[in-house]
Amino acid sequence: MTPPVILPGGGSGPVVINRELIAKYDQPGPRYTSYPTAPHFSEDFGADQYLAEIDRSNREEADRDLSLYFHIPFCDTLCWYCGCNVVVTQKREKALPYVDYLKREVDMVAERIAKGRKVTQLHWGGGTPTYLEAEQIRDIMSHVHSRFEISDSMEASVELDPRDCTRDRLAALHEFGFNRASMGIQDFDPEVQKAVNRIQPEDLTWKVIDWCHELGYKSVNVDLIYGLPFQTTERFVRTVEEVIRMNPERIATFNYAHVPWLKKHQVLIREEDLPTPEEKLHIFEMISHRFHEAGYEFIGMDHFAKPDDEIAIAQREGTLYRNFQGYTTHAGCDLYAFGITAIGQMRRSYFQNVKKISDYYAAIDAGRLPVERGIILSEEDLLRRDVITRLMCNFELHPADFEAEYGIDFDRHFEKALKPFAEFEADGLIVREGRTIKVTAAGRMLIRNIAMPFDEYLGTKPGQRFSRTV
Ligand code: SF4
Repeated sequence: MTPPVILPGGGSGPVVINRELIAKYDQPGPRYTSYPTAPHFSEDFGADQYLAEIDRSNREEADRDLSLYFHIPFCDTLCWYCGCNVVVTQKREKALPYVDYLKREVDMVAERIAKGRKVTQLHWGGGTPTYLEAEQIRDIMSHVHSRFEISDSMEASVELDPRDCTRDRLAALHEFGFNRASMGIQDFDPEVQKAVNRIQPEDLTWKVIDWCHELGYKSVNVDLIYGLPFQTTERFVRTVEEVIRMNPERIATFNYAHVPWLKKHQVLIREEDLPTPEEKLHIFEMISHRFHEAGYEFIGMDHFAKPDDEIAIAQREGTLYRNFQGYTTHAGCDLYAFGITAIGQMRRSYFQNVKKISDYYAAIDAGRLPVERGIILSEEDLLRRDVITRLMCNFELHPADFEAEYGIDFDRHFEKALKPFAEFEADGLIVREGRTIKVTAAGRMLIRNIAMPFDEYLGTKPGQRFSRTV
């Protein structure tokens, strides 16, 4: 076997890229932003079940804080790699009714929530939240403040697009407590930008970062994508160096999934222009090297953070959590989600809104919450979600903790799931210290594969497709 390439890591340990192991384990697998994953949500779960779940949460879990998610689906132009559910329009007036319906949805949920429960986290995603004008931002947020109790220490984050962001929009968000901004960069190379229909000059990105700092945002995060047309390690290193100069707190480096049979507009990207899987691995190796040298820690699942960032600290302390927004430090919150396609979560349930704007408006006009599907988790689901989450976030499992918490014999209960672990151990993906299972540096790149044996739903839904695990 080829000796592994060892990339020295930060506090979270080194990143090891072993090509033979990657070739052996490369297969489609979930990213586990939920368990069970979204394809297993049921259409039997609708508005009535959602309301019943809010009532149950008020009764049984009123000490849980609230997290709010707002989905703003509009974008000015379509990036051809986009995997999101977006409404592409330059007719800005289209957002006006949407703002109104969002506020009405807020009313329907907020009136049901027990007094005293506080919002400690809030996130705007999309689409492009900064597509909204400053006045529309103020309109939504003053409404949210009037309907919910907001904690003084609320952490509020927004995804922004430097191409479509003005200083006054950022200022309006900051007025209402937004303190964390996350922006898409993807790649600064002009040829790559042209090939994906996203022209975003570096000076524009710098300008928006400067605005964030001037306005007092406490952290700026950036997203990159590798695997885009014309990318090579030599060319992408320039983007990586520029990002390091930008000095963000967190960096996400997403692996582009070319799935034109699912996302029709991706046919606009020519397959022959895409880097080979081997080149992509080289690019990721370079990314890991450079970000480590610049002082970032590898968190897992394509994410890097500075050692003093909250997610890096939470990972070291074993309190990191994963939800639909990725890694989060807010594990114990009920997540209420507003807008089309938005997914929310309570301790034992997930629920998702309708995908079409017309259906969204129709439901709210009929006085009905626009929930389309969801799931109530069984006790077994809760246990398995806990196992998968701890693996994905903390890279280790302590069977005794699960035995104390769930009253099970871990080895017997998970006899089937643990079978592949002998091979994981032989391949150096995990080590055992007593009964504790620890994911090694080589295993971190393959964390989805290590979590998958605990997923009872995997393979039970015909036609279900996931991105590849590396
Ligand atoms: S800005 Fe983001 S959400 Fe909008 S089209 Fe581009 S990638 Fe998709």
